[in-house]
Amino acid sequence: MPQLAQRVGRAKPSAIMVIAEKAKQLKAAGRDIISFSIGVPNFLPGEHVYAAAREALSHDSGQYGSNRGAEPLLDAFLKHIEALGFTGYGRNNLSIGIGAKQVLYNLAEALLNEGDEICFAAPYWTTYHDIADIVGAKVNVMHCGPEQHYKLTAAQLESALQRKPKVFLFNNPSNPTGMVYTREEIAALADVLVKYPETWIVTDDIYNSMVFDGIGYHNFVFARPELRDRLIFVDSVSKTYGMPGWRVGLIAGPESVAKAITTLNSNHITSVPEVITAAAVAAFGGPQDVPQAKCKEFAGKRDIVVAALGAIPDVVCPRPQGAFYAFPDISVAFGKSHNGVKITNDVDFCAALLEATGVACVPGSAFGEPRAMRISYTCPTAQLEPGLKRIQAFFAELT
Ligand code: PLP
Repeated sequence: MPQLAQRVGRAKPSAIMVIAEKAKQLKAAGRDIISFSIGVPNFLPGEHVYAAAREALSHDSGQYGSNRGAEPLLDAFLKHIEALGFTGYGRNNLSIGIGAKQVLYNLAEALLNEGDEICFAAPYWTTYHDIADIVGAKVNVMHCGPEQHYKLTAAQLESALQRKPKVFLFNNPSNPTGMVYTREEIAALADVLVKYPETWIVTDDIYNSMVFDGIGYHNFVFARPELRDRLIFVDSVSKTYGMPGWRVGLIAGPESVAKAITTLNSNHITSVPEVITAAAVAAFGGPQDVPQAKCKEFAGKRDIVVAALGAIPDVVCPRPQGAFYAFPDISVAFGKSHNGVKITNDVDFCAALLEATGVACVPGSAFGEPRAMRISYTCPTAQLEPGLKRIQAFFAELT
């Protein structure tokens, strides 16, 4: 029997999908399930996006497209990033992918040789570790627990950069914690980054439109423009525009990196389909009322989640200020039992919670923080409140 390549063995099935699958099975068996597990935005893009897609379909050339993305899309994305605060970028600084996930995989291939080091903070989005593992990079995780509001400090970053990693990967707002870095926090990290010119900086900031409490979105290059030569900004239509299944991600970075991604595209995907491209142009270039309204809605749901979790004794939930996740520290439950079921860790906790209450959350260990669990709060409020009540009742029943 021939063997699979070693890199496949290094990739693990997603813990998020394991919980989501279990919830699906229970639902199919007739259970009343409330899912807080998957990070899908749960809203549809504006009608202008569908109109653009329909229009493109009516005259689709059926041909292969550009390896770096069609020019109208690059131009719409340039305007979008200018509005965020990125200045002086042109088409040659951009390239495309099938969602931010594929863009990140391409970046790992473009920037990391086997054995090179990549560092990122935990809690981290699960896929970061898997992508690094697949390309054979060494991972240095900087642990940022609830006691520091899950945020990376300048001192932690400095000590990681002293090891001369090839890549520093950063995510703001954060999946899974919902933390958002302030202008001052970004500036303090940027001051460290300028001292280590041998490290590429990748900022995966696909939740940049979902920032609450007037904090605003900030990037290292806004604070220290000289970082531009080695910083790659990653964005996507998935979360901002409610288009996760349309699969469009983009980067803005140095020309050499954009060119490398485009070369990889020419061998991996060739191009993004014309109809999808037209929809993405409409999303980035059209009215922004849907993302703006959703941002307000998510801020309101955040308040509901934080209030409900705050009412559970000894459960600590650093206040999320962006994206649509909360990441409470649930370790007070470890060592206790629920209806005779012993809970020793986060995985036991989420399994028992799902079984007993029908509420699906993701164990924090999937994100490198086994004291916590992730709640994705994009479901309708009519489900959110009962789901949170079930979590409260579950805690109250622990013995
Ligand atoms: N980066 C982060 C932090 C995410 O949370 C996700 C999706 O959940 C992605 C990237 C992937 O996004 P896309 O749907 O564009 O591939």
